[in-house]
Amino acid sequence: MDAKTCLKKLEYVGVLAFATVDKNGAPQIRNISAIHYEPERMIFFTAKGKAFCEELMTDGRVQVLGYTKYKEMIRLSAKAEVIAEDEQEKWIDIIFAEQPYLYNVYPDDTRKMAGIVFEIKNANIEYFNLGVNPIFRDFYTIGDGNIEKKGYYITDKCIGCGKCLKSCPQRCIEEGEPYNILQNHCLHCGNCFDVCPAKAIEKR
Ligand code: SF4
Ligand code: SF4
Repeated sequence: MDAKTCLKKLEYVGVLAFATVDKNGAPQIRNISAIHYEPERMIFFTAKGKAFCEELMTDGRVQVLGYTKYKEMIRLSAKAEVIAEDEQEKWIDIIFAEQPYLYNVYPDDTRKMAGIVFEIKNANIEYFNLGVNPIFRDFYTIGDGNIEKKGYYITDKCIGCGKCLKSCPQRCIEEGEPYNILQNHCLHCGNCFDVCPAKAIEKR
């Protein structure tokens, strides 16, 4: 798995959930399908008058979520940027050609009056596959995106009692000094954290 494959999978999903933050700091989420995909870039259309556009222009943070029929969750976290003025029309035409239903929504020149195109070119991507055994997760980036590490890790306070391993639904902890969590197979469920008698497990 890699970032490009994640974007390709999102393209196959088609309709994605886009979450933003509104002026009151509340989450807002909507489905978006007016998207063009490049190998490491996502370009999407909305209307200038929508609250979605205002949230992108003021805060800019966006999370994009897709879920495949193979039980793969793909979440992309980024800051959306407006495409340069002199390229807007070109990308609107490309997105409409790829998504012909949009011609009914914004016929004739209305799309160029109402429309605005954003891009996501720097992002971190979280991939989480519950359809394989053991489960698999990983993190990737596009552009200058930073990986934000999550989950649990075991410190040198470990006394080797083995309670964490017994409580782990994925058996993704290996023995050692200290014990070690196999991060690619961890659910982030927190069982190990709860049972550790030495408080040797920390949450990122
Ligand atoms: S439960 Fe805590 S002390 Fe025991 S093996 Fe696991 S990490 Fe080490
Ligand atoms: S968080 Fe859950 S899945 Fe991950 S190592 Fe701990 S018990 Fe196992």
